[in-house]
Amino acid sequence: MRISIHADPNIHITRLEYIVLYLNHHPYAQNNVSFTINQQTADVHLHYGNPIVNAENPSLHATIPTQNWLLAESDTNQSFWALYANQYDFEEMQVYSVETSKKRPQSIIENNKYGFDLFETLFFHLTRFEEAYAQKDQQDRHGYLLEDHHFLIRHGLHRSPVVDHLVETLLRSIGINIHHCGQRTLSHDLDAIWKYPNLLKGIKAFLKTAAAPTRDPTVSKVLQQYLKVKNKTLPDPYDTFDWLLSTPNHFDKYLFIMAGGQTKYEGHYNLTSNKLNEIVKTADGSGYTLGLHPSYAAYTDIEKLSTEKKELEKYLNAEIRDSRQHWLHFDVLETPLLLEHVGISFDHTIGYQNKVGFRSGTGFSYPWYNLKEERTLNLWEKPFALMDTALVSETKGHADRMHEIVREVIDTIGKKTDFTFNFHNSSFDPLRLGGPELLKIYEQFIKEKTRSLS
Ligand SMILES: [Zn+2]
Repeated sequence: MRISIHADPNIHITRLEYIVLYLNHHPYAQNNVSFTINQQTADVHLHYGNPIVNAENPSLHATIPTQNWLLAESDTNQSFWALYANQYDFEEMQVYSVETSKKRPQSIIENNKYGFDLFETLFFHLTRFEEAYAQKDQQDRHGYLLEDHHFLIRHGLHRSPVVDHLVETLLRSIGINIHHCGQRTLSHDLDAIWKYPNLLKGIKAFLKTAAAPTRDPTVSKVLQQYLKVKNKTLPDPYDTFDWLLSTPNHFDKYLFIMAGGQTKYEGHYNLTSNKLNEIVKTADGSGYTLGLHPSYAAYTDIEKLSTEKKELEKYLNAEIRDSRQHWLHFDVLETPLLLEHVGISFDHTIGYQNKVGFRSGTGFSYPWYNLKEERTLNLWEKPFALMDTALVSETKGHADRMHEIVREVIDTIGKKTDFTFNFHNSSFDPLRLGGPELLKIYEQFIKEKTRSLS
């Protein structure tokens, strides 16, 4: 089915072209669905712009009104203090807008007119517009937009793939049948190989715990653990690779490896490590795609990023196409340009630091649009929905709540979108908050996936 969007003259065509490209690549839009702009021959004609009063054009299927903000030509990067998520109903579904005024829940389409600017809402979520133009006082010291200020979190919508719901509603409302689909993907960031690589680190871990005497684990537990590891009666708590990476081959799997970095947030191993060799062999044999884990400062430093990529490629003797920023350190306006420039095809960074959910409203991969250069990049985002540390952070390590959230998200999305987990080898340490529960969740996830395929 061909759908032509007839845009008013004031519509920002480059941005609209991005949305058209996005829709045409969405997994719900099968091969027979094709959106175009301003084509006279099509099966469905949508008007996109200011609503036409008393329009009597029989070939026009419906109008999508413009909000005259992000997809209008003028002043398109102006931030709004107040944005509302208004609810619209379509059959059994509820979808949510991003609008500058508050409205009561209503039907999404009435008298051949949609209730809000669907294209702009998609654009807002996917480009991470609110992060690109966040006020300084809403950012933390690393430059992240504080998660409590994220639109989807403020409106309690971050757990559901609102962008995929919107695409589904649009397609169904013009008579296209949807086939739900969704894959589960495993990924790991390799930040550190050992907890106790040497005596110095052992003492540091010990002092860190000793400095916080009110918190579990107690000093004596750390000491006991250290001595057991040193006497080789216990494996190092971060050395979980044997079982972590021996997952069944029907998963899509990624391991992100660091190849540099001098800040206090990294530097726990290097490419000359024998253990790393072992890990890479295990991962390779288990069907993992190996990617780069760029260092903290590489997010705006092309030299660093490029050197790290080349070092890892030399080490692996393979081309690297996938990448996830260490600490999720990412500048929406800058980092994607750098990644594209050094030849990365897929970034995997977009997910929350401290929450479980969909930071850009979807679990599916999508192309990046850069707001600074106003163009679609040769770079795709493969977002993640659940990071181990975020789950612990959100629940403060409360065991029942951790299981509940995982269940809640998996049940809610069903097979409606992709779901990517991010587990660190270091998170299962029994002395870490939530460590033993994460182990159960990981095992359960592997078993469930295996069962659902059998
Ligand atoms: Zn990392």
